[in-house]
Amino acid sequence: MSTRLEEQIRAEIVEAGRRMYDRGFVASNDGNISARLDEKRLMTTPKSVSKGFMTPDMMVVVDYDGNKVSGDRDASSELPMHLEIYRNRPDVNGVVHAHPPTATGFAVAGIPLTRAVLAEVITTLGSIPIAEYGTPSTAELPEAVRKYIKAHDGMLLANHGAVTCGPSVMAAYYKMETIEHFAKISLVARLLGREHLISREEVERLQGLRGYYGIAAPAPLCTDPDMPQDADQVLCQVLEAPESSTVRLVPDDTGAVPRPVGDARSALAAASRDGEIRLTYGELTALIADAIKQLRD
Ligand SMILES: [Zn+2]
Repeated sequence: MSTRLEEQIRAEIVEAGRRMYDRGFVASNDGNISARLDEKRLMTTPKSVSKGFMTPDMMVVVDYDGNKVSGDRDASSELPMHLEIYRNRPDVNGVVHAHPPTATGFAVAGIPLTRAVLAEVITTLGSIPIAEYGTPSTAELPEAVRKYIKAHDGMLLANHGAVTCGPSVMAAYYKMETIEHFAKISLVARLLGREHLISREEVERLQGLRGYYGIAAPAPLCTDPDMPQDADQVLCQVLEAPESSTVRLVPDDTGAVPRPVGDARSALAAASRDGEIRLTYGELTALIADAIKQLRD
């Protein structure tokens, strides 16, 4: 690989770090970015540095066992997670790890982003599962990521953050943006009380357009959603998309979404003065919004 290309990758990592910091995807010295240089070496961000203020000379070059090849600083403590991704995905040349607040909120709540609701997300990432909790900087985290990485370009990390990969550093970074954007939209839809799901037929149509947009498909949809969960490594994606030959958007106001305000009110009315009232977060939010509306009217 030419030095010029290496310089270009250094600049790309600096740029991705700056955007990640500016968008609030990381605080303090959080997050890390890496790029494949060739079959023997990769480049990674240094530890203990804000990703918003890096310079190209700060990067660390390591081999695929994690040994330092060159650079004045030490490599990121999450390097083993990056190495695991490169080992499993020969097509990947860039990996980004951050803690974007809304997506991380979903990761903390244990709610994966696996519902078919946005065409763009279905086309680029498909489903976004949650990798099991692993202590940061230990072998647990790469092991948790290993389970999903063959079939997913992005995933949430339980009670931690998110990780994305792609054919370049910027491609991986853009997937991180997409995940956070998707998480924000999902949160608003759930606060509003319902999500219309895109039908499985339409999902297949959208995935069929990937070639047209030049997007490589991470993996096919699972035909048996229960099957891959038990596997050591999942090889297909579980996407919540109901079958429908008549409509492309399937109304869904059950399950994880909150009851309408009226139902929450009757739950309150049904409870005795000293009785226990159980409300979901969505129901409580709906009640507060309703009370504010009544005050305004
Ligand atoms: Zn982290």
